[in-house]
Amino acid sequence: MTDLVNVIKNAQSTHSLSESEIVEILKNDTVNELLFDTADKVRKQYVGDEVHLRGLIEFSNICRCNCFYCGLRKDNTAVQRYRMALEEILLLAQKAKDFGYKTVVLQSGEDSFFDVDKMCAIIREIKKLDLALTLSIGEKSYEEYKAYKDAGADRYLLRIETTDRELYKKLHPSMSFENRVRCLNDLKTLGFEVGTGCLVGLPHQSDESLARDILFFKNIDADMIGLGPFIPSPQTPLQNENGGTLIKVLKVMALTRLLLPDINIPATTAMETLQENGRLLALKSGANVVMPNVTDEECKQKYTIYPGKAGLNNTAQEYRNSIVKKIEAIGRTISNGYGFHKKTV
Ligand code: SAM
Ligand code: SF4
Repeated sequence: MTDLVNVIKNAQSTHSLSESEIVEILKNDTVNELLFDTADKVRKQYVGDEVHLRGLIEFSNICRCNCFYCGLRKDNTAVQRYRMALEEILLLAQKAKDFGYKTVVLQSGEDSFFDVDKMCAIIREIKKLDLALTLSIGEKSYEEYKAYKDAGADRYLLRIETTDRELYKKLHPSMSFENRVRCLNDLKTLGFEVGTGCLVGLPHQSDESLARDILFFKNIDADMIGLGPFIPSPQTPLQNENGGTLIKVLKVMALTRLLLPDINIPATTAMETLQENGRLLALKSGANVVMPNVTDEECKQKYTIYPGKAGLNNTAQEYRNSIVKKIEAIGRTISNGYGFHKKTV
């Protein structure tokens, strides 16, 4: 116990932990408060009190993949599929800008309708709005990523989901861990700010494997880490499994903040879905980003990654007002900047 206290206190300045130390912290819940508090201090020291708001646009729920955990998987015939036209996407991007968001995140299933030309046209139009642009549209070739970068995209989110290769294989038919890593490396090479992350609480995922996920984030020198609890989704092969817990995901997040002190870490919607104010707990345990959804009401209801998603019944305007109030109530401020990763270590 005393040992773990010292391990966490040392990590506050060294930003280093061994795999076995991470595993011990994950397994031991007596040091949680110290862990969260230390991650909060590291966050304050390196990235300050500002919270960056990124407007999320879920522009297509059509997907060619069959990830076992995801409600949008190809074989889920219960999903009402949609894809937005360029004009709709641009209207939402303008709305995000009007809300004062400096970044737009374009997210979708792996929808091949949006080929490289269509994507580049969308990117170029959004960049005319003077916004930073993040893409979260899955695995592509080096050439496609290069075209997106040349068209003006700034950041890319692609979670590794799990670094346990066996588990990865089981959960991702027709996909490979190696290709996922290749994508992340290509994105880094091309100069994107790269976000990755994992699902916490997947069936058969061990603390040892989560510890390796955290070390993987450090190894690939991520600029952003998005973590979420796995939430069982109906009509998927994992629908009857147990989901992840908020405590475990907060612990993984806090440990990530200790090891990667200056990166951007969102308080994710999935955390809020597990517990009201889960997002605020995350902001007090190492997170410095929130991604408010600006997708229109009809499409948002159909973007059914998992059930009970937080914020589904609020308009984008209501959501913005409430999150800004909550952020300010915990003594934090809303950033006016683009929120790029400023490397200090
Ligand atoms: N298709 C892109 C991709 O997979 O990178 C982007 C969209 S995908 C819906 C975004 C993220 O949703 C995935 O990286 C995954 O971690 C998360 N997700 C999918 N199913 C989930 C579930 N049941 N519970 C929690 N998160 C889930
Ligand atoms: Fe498709 Fe992404 Fe869902 Fe996998 S996680 S099924 S790639 S939307």
